[in-house]
Amino acid sequence: MKDVNKYTILAVDDAKDSLMLLEFDLIEAGYQVVTADSGNAALSLLQDVEVDLVLLDMYMPGISGLSTLQEIKNQSNLAHTPVIMLSASGDQEQIVAALEFGEDDYVTKPYISNVLLARMRNSLRLMEKTQQLEKLAKTDSLTQVNNRGSFEDLVSKAISQAKRTDQNVSLAMFDLDFFKNVNDTYGHETGDKALIDFAGILIETFRDYDIIGRIGGEEFAVCMPNTLIQDAFNACERCREALESHNINVDYEGSNHQLSLTVSIGVTSARGHLMDFDDLLRIADHGLYKAKKNGRNQSVIEGEFENINKNSTTEVVGEDVSNVSHSDDQATEIVSDEKYPGINYSVGLNNVLGDEDLFAEILVMFYQDHGQDHLNIEQAINEGAEQKIKHLVHTLKGVSCSVGALELFECCKVLDIAVTENNTEQYQDLFAPLKVEIVKVVSGIELRLADKL
Ligand code: GH3
Ligand code: MG
Ligand code: MG
Repeated sequence: MKDVNKYTILAVDDAKDSLMLLEFDLIEAGYQVVTADSGNAALSLLQDVEVDLVLLDMYMPGISGLSTLQEIKNQSNLAHTPVIMLSASGDQEQIVAALEFGEDDYVTKPYISNVLLARMRNSLRLMEKTQQLEKLAKTDSLTQVNNRGSFEDLVSKAISQAKRTDQNVSLAMFDLDFFKNVNDTYGHETGDKALIDFAGILIETFRDYDIIGRIGGEEFAVCMPNTLIQDAFNACERCREALESHNINVDYEGSNHQLSLTVSIGVTSARGHLMDFDDLLRIADHGLYKAKKNGRNQSVIEGEFENINKNSTTEVVGEDVSNVSHSDDQATEIVSDEKYPGINYSVGLNNVLGDEDLFAEILVMFYQDHGQDHLNIEQAINEGAEQKIKHLVHTLKGVSCSVGALELFECCKVLDIAVTENNTEQYQDLFAPLKVEIVKVVSGIELRLADKL
């Protein structure tokens, strides 16, 4: 929790003496305090001042405490601000009504100062935890850009908006070249630093209203609303060049190395009422696949466009990288510990900067959101639902990498490639080990959850 004096509390009571007493107790405890003597005054103050918690008297003339509470909880920007109601004792009906409206806690009057302060601390702690979880649910913890889920939400909204206004949406997929070699040669930490640097380049290159997301491991995507293909392509090329000339400082075997990386990019654009997130991603991904095949370090436009300059630079891999072996078939050494079968605990933990509690919560989320993925993938394969298979496998690939389920990641990766290349005859064979691996990971998490209960 932050220092007490970093929190601003709004105290609302029509009775002047009660309000003064409340203000005194709160200031004495170290809080910043603002006051209002009516529900209306409180609501207008909340528009101007950023408040961390509201103490709200239940009975007030004019707009009542209950109605004020309802108003607060109805406003999306205030809905998460904790509200503690102050009510006369024995007022059970009102208290129940307030709880239903989203009241976070209540304290009966006359209140005992220490009890009130303890409840406030609880509510503030809970609010912060919720905020952290919400941020976590939307952001990629390593690079701080949108995670895949949040990227999809934001892009889908941008697509709906573009359909209404009949504008273009461009979308680019980025995949760092020979990234596995960076990890293998310089270690995972350097790999992580490179990912953070690349996310920084994306943020610098693209406009504030472009949507940037980490789709999985070393794959990123950028959605550019209201942007024609040629402009999107130019922006991608700027980004590619910026990465190429960017140096990452690495301490390796006692000396300082300058590491430079390259990226391959597939970009597409669409307009009209049939535009769809999965299609845009799939087509851009196809462009990316061609960029890799053509020699990497280039942007490729995919889709049906005429009179567009598709020239792009090829080759040029930075000095240190070019010394690294480029063979794709080096097997990663996968180490999992007994703590969670199938999960490399230190890799997963490292992804959340060593926060064990957070990692445990992420594993619970993984368990809830992806514990059944093998059944869904199996069903999609049986139904021949290509898009669905691609989406499920691609997402699972990203999240398994984030939680350190490295074997599962490898299983997803090969199936993902087979899906991209449309090698349907390989699906069943590649799915079998994926299924074994996911069952292992999930039962490991289950076991640990049972331990904790
Ligand atoms: P290509 O040019 O074909 O894309 O080759 P590549 O080596 O980049 O591609 P591949 O898909 O074989 O390897 C991706 C690597 O990315 C493997 C995995 O260890 C690494 N990776 C994925 N996520 C992370 C991460 O969060 N941190 C680090 N350090 N590495 C990651
Ligand atoms: Mg990749
Ligand atoms: Mg790559």
